[in-house]
Amino acid sequence: MAQAPAVSGPGWDLSQEYSGVDDPALQEDLQALQALLDQAAELNPQLQPADDAAVAAAQQIAKLRDSAAVLLANVSTFANCLLSVDAKHGGAQMLNGTLQGYRKQFGDVFEAWSQFIDGATAEQIESYLSDPDVAPSAFQVHHGRARSHEKLSLAEESLVNGLSQDGIHAWGRLYDQIAGSLQCEVLVGNETRSMGLAQTSGLLMSAQDSQRQAAWQAINQAWQAHEESCTAGINAIAGWRLEMCKQRSREQPVHFLDAPVHMNRIGRATLDTLLQVAADNKALSQRAAALQARAYGKSGFGPWDLRAPAPVLGGADSGAISFEQAVEVIASAYGEVHPDMAEFVRMMVRERWVEGTIGPNKAPGAHCTGFAKSRTPRVYMTYTGGQSDVITLAHELGHALHSWVMRDLPESQRSYGMSLAETASTFGETLVRDALLAQSTSAQQRLDILWEEMSALTAFMLNIPTRFEFERNLYTARQQRPLRVQELKDMMAEAWRAWYGDALAEPDEMFWASKLHFYISGLSFYNFPYLFGYLFSLGLYARRDANGQDFYPRYVALLRDTGRMTAEELAAKHLDVSLEEPVFWQQTVDALAKRVDAFEALLQEIETRNRGRK
Ligand SMILES: [Zn+2]
Repeated sequence: MAQAPAVSGPGWDLSQEYSGVDDPALQEDLQALQALLDQAAELNPQLQPADDAAVAAAQQIAKLRDSAAVLLANVSTFANCLLSVDAKHGGAQMLNGTLQGYRKQFGDVFEAWSQFIDGATAEQIESYLSDPDVAPSAFQVHHGRARSHEKLSLAEESLVNGLSQDGIHAWGRLYDQIAGSLQCEVLVGNETRSMGLAQTSGLLMSAQDSQRQAAWQAINQAWQAHEESCTAGINAIAGWRLEMCKQRSREQPVHFLDAPVHMNRIGRATLDTLLQVAADNKALSQRAAALQARAYGKSGFGPWDLRAPAPVLGGADSGAISFEQAVEVIASAYGEVHPDMAEFVRMMVRERWVEGTIGPNKAPGAHCTGFAKSRTPRVYMTYTGGQSDVITLAHELGHALHSWVMRDLPESQRSYGMSLAETASTFGETLVRDALLAQSTSAQQRLDILWEEMSALTAFMLNIPTRFEFERNLYTARQQRPLRVQELKDMMAEAWRAWYGDALAEPDEMFWASKLHFYISGLSFYNFPYLFGYLFSLGLYARRDANGQDFYPRYVALLRDTGRMTAEELAAKHLDVSLEEPVFWQQTVDALAKRVDAFEALLQEIETRNRGRK
């Protein structure tokens, strides 16, 4: 949709941290960081042998590590903030290079400490955690140690780590290199153009159905030229992980889902229930996909429709929303939950902690970051006045609120798994979307909002399970032997059909090659956390009305616990539900069904009106 280019957001103020890369305070922080690293390095020899002196050294090192992490993160955030506004900022680029050295040193210096924590006896850990400054890390320590049965010997771990650089990680890098150099031949209008993957992917957001399909075909053709390399890569990555599972099974069997589930701080039973609920509600999700296709006047949902915008109905454009208006919309929607939430939004803007300018060298996308020393959040985006920008701002402010309510907690309790990371953001986004829907004055505005909801529903409830099912089948089959190109295509097509059913126009059989997530060498199953986060936050949102005025303090208490318990413990304590049982998840899906109904009713209304016009 065309937008008046005059609308933009404010620039952020970073001067509360450092006046610039030359600020002496920044150099002082780096010197202090170096001193902390040196002190820790001096203590390292005391970690062997593992006796009382080792425990005392580990406690000292843990405190040094916390302080060092804060300084390193603070300067890193500053460099990243400068670079996201101006990718060509020379000083920030140099600072980033310097920081790489510190990061490497940080990893090396604290490796012995982390091995001590993993390898220590239960008594030693009890004694280690008896220090009041170290005690808050209890959850982190115990959760990390839950997988200590998988540990190989120190020498073996170090060998694996060394070999993996040119082993599993090399395959990941090869994939990135192919993706970065890929040229797609796309039909644009009636001329064929050659363009890179990023630019071609941008066309998948075209409002023109044929354009999206052409872009999708071009991307798949480009990947087909590399299908043998991708096959070698995906087989090697899966094979490496399966071999590691085998090696790590000396004490008890290790499954390929153990690591991703643990990383997300959930259990296998929860994952199984989550996917079962998605499967039980396939018909609803497929209905949403079919309605999206119908809105474009066609019978089937194509793989190229995943990121399609709402169809344009014609009629008056709703016009751009100024940044100030956006802030008011968000503050009043947030304020419906509690006045503190509205005040938080206004504070973020007043303190100039939001970056929304338009600039030629700005990084794309939006994110929330924060300074570790002052524990103040920052929101980054490019604000151009579209309705989707308002939603993005609401989303990022949700992340900011999450970190803000945790600002007084010990460092070791302030990080949370990916499964809970989108809780506050999705919550904030949903609040504002509902407010916009209530205020909407045109069918197009309502369509835009409900369309986004349907896109999210089909992405999380159909596409994510498709990816999961493929990946699980891949790992299962790979246990026997490497798979051939055609087998991977068939396996992927089958997963698409299994989830999309009759709503699907055709499966995306090259998705195993075109989806980057299957080639991240550092982690596997980068899919189910999205489904978890989506349904968990909507489930929480659905409880807002039921809890009335009590809701906000309970919400804050829940957010504050995200860094010190598993998702199951969190849900039991704050929502009084079991994530291992389908009830909570099913209630959330039932609430979504009403949105699908609303979307269908709107479509019907638009279709009736259009027929009347003819
Ligand atoms: Zn987010």
